[in-house]
Amino acid sequence: MTDRIAIVTGAAQGLGAAIAARLASEFDVLVLADLQDEPLGIRAQSIENEHRVRVIAHQTDVTSPASVTALYDAVAGQGSLTGLVNVAGIGGFDPIVSIDEALWDRMFAVNTKGTFLMCQEFLRRVPTGPAAIVNISSIGAKQGHPLLGHYAAAKAAVIEFSHVVARTGAANEIRCNTVMPGLIHTDMWKSSIPALKAVTPPLADLPDDQVFEAMVQQSVPMGRPQEPEDIAEAVAFLISDRARNITGQTLAVDGGAVL
Ligand code: NAD
Repeated sequence: MTDRIAIVTGAAQGLGAAIAARLASEFDVLVLADLQDEPLGIRAQSIENEHRVRVIAHQTDVTSPASVTALYDAVAGQGSLTGLVNVAGIGGFDPIVSIDEALWDRMFAVNTKGTFLMCQEFLRRVPTGPAAIVNISSIGAKQGHPLLGHYAAAKAAVIEFSHVVARTGAANEIRCNTVMPGLIHTDMWKSSIPALKAVTPPLADLPDDQVFEAMVQQSVPMGRPQEPEDIAEAVAFLISDRARNITGQTLAVDGGAVL
């Protein structure tokens, strides 16, 4: 039996780090990829120490075909590549009238093109499975939120692209599903709060540390945020053989926000 390998992008922090830690019991080798080199190395070391799984850290820019190719080259020969989780992403809140071309393009470059390049190279290198891909979208893809024109469009494209990957891989036992996380208090949120307050009058007067909780109370029927571990659990199921007949699906882990 050769070692089973999974790649997780965006793994230096937040959701990607939690998903990588959860997958330690599902795979023999984890390849953690992220733009941020130093935090990635620290994260890889701590997952390796804590979970006794072999971890390879690889600085990667998912928007760059050359960087994605270098990542897959680093994986070659290490075992059998059977899993991919595309978590790398960027967010932001802006009204349509103030989204400039560079911001629109950046949102699609990381969230959508990054997912495309990673899936394309996976399909080139893994002609037959069993293998599985999980792409991380967002409930933002389904809500028509007035401040998410760029992000919502980029994340909705991930869902439809995943359908195409699912149909492409189906006959060769390669599955592809999407997870739509709800509100998780990660760095992505922390950096978006000043912009969110500036364009959302009911939130403007709240201290920064109360804005996220106010959003949760407004939009999540179960009244609590999601934890990175909640998303990681869904990913662990979808990427495992326990989900061997599930492909092309989109699973919201959001406390009922999108119904
Ligand atoms: P985060 O900002 O904490 O982490 C994102 C990671 O992606 C970072 O480590 C960053 O360095 C990496 N990254 C960014 N650009 C990259 C690139 N070009 N190449 C490689 N890596 C890159 O964000 P998070 O909250 O952990 O979000 C992770 C994913 O979950 C994103 O796709 C996000 O859209 C999605 N999501 C987050 C939430 C939430 O509430 N936090 C909700 C729904 C969906």
